[in-house]
Amino acid sequence: MTQPGTAGNPLRVAIIGAGPTGFYTAEHLLKQTNLSVEIDLFDRVPTPFGLVRAGVAPDHLKIKTVTAVFDKTATHPHVRFYGNVEIGKHLTVDELKMHYHQIVYTTGAQTDRRMDIPGEDLAGSHPATDFVAWYNGHPDYRDLQFDLSQEAAAVVGIGNVAIDVARILCRTPDELLKSDIADYALEALRHSRVRTVYVLGRRGPVQAAFSNPEIKEVGEMADVDVIVPPAEVTLDPLSQAELDRNNDRTLFRKVEILQEYGRHEPTGKSRRLIFRFLVSPTALEGDETGHVKMMRLAHNKLVATDTGTLRPKATGETEEIPVGLVFRSVGYRGVPVPGVPFKESWGVILNQKGRVLNPETQQPQVGEYTAGWIKRGPNGVIGTNKPDAVETVMCMLEDLAHGQTLTPARPDVAALADLVKARQSNYFSYADWQRLNEMELRRGQEQGRPRVKFTSVAEMLAALGRA
Ligand code: NAP
Repeated sequence: MTQPGTAGNPLRVAIIGAGPTGFYTAEHLLKQTNLSVEIDLFDRVPTPFGLVRAGVAPDHLKIKTVTAVFDKTATHPHVRFYGNVEIGKHLTVDELKMHYHQIVYTTGAQTDRRMDIPGEDLAGSHPATDFVAWYNGHPDYRDLQFDLSQEAAAVVGIGNVAIDVARILCRTPDELLKSDIADYALEALRHSRVRTVYVLGRRGPVQAAFSNPEIKEVGEMADVDVIVPPAEVTLDPLSQAELDRNNDRTLFRKVEILQEYGRHEPTGKSRRLIFRFLVSPTALEGDETGHVKMMRLAHNKLVATDTGTLRPKATGETEEIPVGLVFRSVGYRGVPVPGVPFKESWGVILNQKGRVLNPETQQPQVGEYTAGWIKRGPNGVIGTNKPDAVETVMCMLEDLAHGQTLTPARPDVAALADLVKARQSNYFSYADWQRLNEMELRRGQEQGRPRVKFTSVAEMLAALGRA
């Protein structure tokens, strides 16, 4: 057999996870001029695009236009999409090794980090990631229930996900109509009684993880007063020194925006979005039915660590806030792919620059790679995954040049297609997705909305006439 990557023996690549990183990986492989490649993109859900569909906020439609580029990749003649196919369930990694020269895991970060405080699992306390997947119509989360009859909610963490959740809780039904939020979530939020939303940061404004457009946007919503206690956005000497040292215009502006909010007087809008800084939840307390009713907060001051970063330290002062709904938004976390080495402490696949490492020898496992959040952790925006995927592809090409690939017994495209059909007859091709996409857009048009999503696999199969 000739060297893989030639016309007679195309390089067979499986990409596990059809989110942005999966597409960036495929795109960069296809760009190689002297490489013959056949790529199969797998996803556990029927639809492609990962967090662009199930994570990006439904009112951030512009960000989702990135899928136009992914469309080009997916419709390339040397690329196939297999949706509703789960590795570890329908196909094993060992089976993939019999069909591919190289396998890339781009599964993202599918769960959340915990706060580890008493009461965290009371009814009414949820991971923000569940709420995000629910309002975005992810099939696995559509049946979750959130008690929106509560008056006050708290979002813990001050990253962009926290801002997304707070914004969706605060939007009016008319604003939500303009989004592609799942129809059941639109209906539930239409009847929401939540009127006060706290967003809680354990450190100060200089350390806030959200970005400036996101924090500005909350002040532009239709029916929300943004409230920031001025004392909590007045910088302590350590934060002021950090700000001056960084000399970063964006960071100066972020502090300015928050301090401007601190000077605003509430104008009697029907919802209140309250940003608090230097507070850490220490416990949630429930009512007699076991439903969260109150959050205990410790007040913090900032202290410098040996490395110079500022960390929160409890001052001893405490406070209680009455909340009936809590969303912890303290970061995503990756979950292992069965059969693939995992670094538990970081929640990522054990790897170096994208080469999967053997946990015993710490040497690369031939033919296995990773990219995106499951490689480096859940940080950065969608575009951050592009250079990350390129780094992984460079390793793949380097290893290919040195003859370091798997030696699959059945590298032909048809053999794998047959195996998928045998294991998961309800797999979705990219053509299936294109039909669903058109139907979703049409349903949207009929209701004066950008899109009305299909949110269950059964619904999608029925729409394609495959029920
Ligand atoms: P993130 O940016 O890492 O923010 C996590 C937040 O949780 C931080 O404020 C962190 O505070 C806080 N936190 C962590 N542990 C905590 C604890 N035990 N108690 C209280 N607070 C705690 O994560 P994310 O918001 O999930 O976002 C993930 C990535 O997606 C980010 O890179 C984000 O920018 C990106 N994203 C972007 C957009 C957008 O561009 N519009 C939208 C959504 C997500 P400390 O700093 O003190 O640790």
